[in-house]
Amino acid sequence: MDKITRREVLKRMALLGAGTALGTLGLTSSSEAVRRRRVLRIAHLTDIHLQPEGTAVEGTLACLREVHEMKDRPNLILTGGDSVMDVFAQRRERANTLSKLWREVFVTNCKIPVFHCVGNHDVWGWNKERSGCTGNEPNYGKKWAMELFEIERPYYSFDRAGWHFVVLDSTFSVGNSYTARLDDAQFEWLQADLQRTDPKTPVLVLSHIPILSVCAYIDGNNEKTGNWVIPGDWVHIDARRIIQLFHKHPNVKLCLSGHMHQYDRAEYDGVTYVCNGAVSGSWWGGNYYQTPPGYGIIDLFNDGSFTCEYRPYKGYPKPQ
Ligand SMILES: [Zn+2]
Repeated sequence: MDKITRREVLKRMALLGAGTALGTLGLTSSSEAVRRRRVLRIAHLTDIHLQPEGTAVEGTLACLREVHEMKDRPNLILTGGDSVMDVFAQRRERANTLSKLWREVFVTNCKIPVFHCVGNHDVWGWNKERSGCTGNEPNYGKKWAMELFEIERPYYSFDRAGWHFVVLDSTFSVGNSYTARLDDAQFEWLQADLQRTDPKTPVLVLSHIPILSVCAYIDGNNEKTGNWVIPGDWVHIDARRIIQLFHKHPNVKLCLSGHMHQYDRAEYDGVTYVCNGAVSGSWWGGNYYQTPPGYGIIDLFNDGSFTCEYRPYKGYPKPQ
């Protein structure tokens, strides 16, 4: 190989390298790179587990403060569910205490527009044995969460900054407990919602429980039988059906979740699945496995690309 040829080869390699870098960003040419601009910055605050005990109030306020005082302040907050410590297995008095506390601490101090997702701990009384509920209470079950978050339905969608947002309800009742799935009515709604969304509009899906998860392998001792066993209340048991639906809609780009209190990121069939740890960390007891307490910062761009970063926050109180 003579000198000129080698130089030519190096030049081509450099061009290939640049092409790959742009491809990673979802871009195809430098002219498109110029046009790419951020349209929205989101803070994803999941698994706050607010309660009067311990450091939960102090920690929630510290996290909210940090998000509000950020130089490049988010335009939008998404809560990821399990916003209160628990009403699933709690009596009416405790549920009342937590809704009052949520309004005093979160609602009063959140000045950024916010959309809420319902988590299993936000559903009142489904554990009838421990909550003493009959099921006939006017704000039983998800009604309690809908009142708390001032939403008309536990799942819904909206548009913002050229993106379509879908907020799912992962909690499906099974006896005194729950599993992670969409019932048929919600799945049909999701199908229709994606169908009527312009295929050129990028979609962000928010659920409390992950649709796909890496950290589910690490939590607990679920390999002790000699096989991996992922419980149906950790990861959507209907993931296969949802993924098949997403396959028909390549504009579904990003799925955010919580529930696991660990940070992870997986890519499957062109969709990125991010589980954004927990504001409460290990239920206000510090890190959970390798994940420090924190929240997600997501930047959305006009070309359907995005960046996600998990940020531990400085004001997390020392666990008591
Ligand atoms: Zn949860």
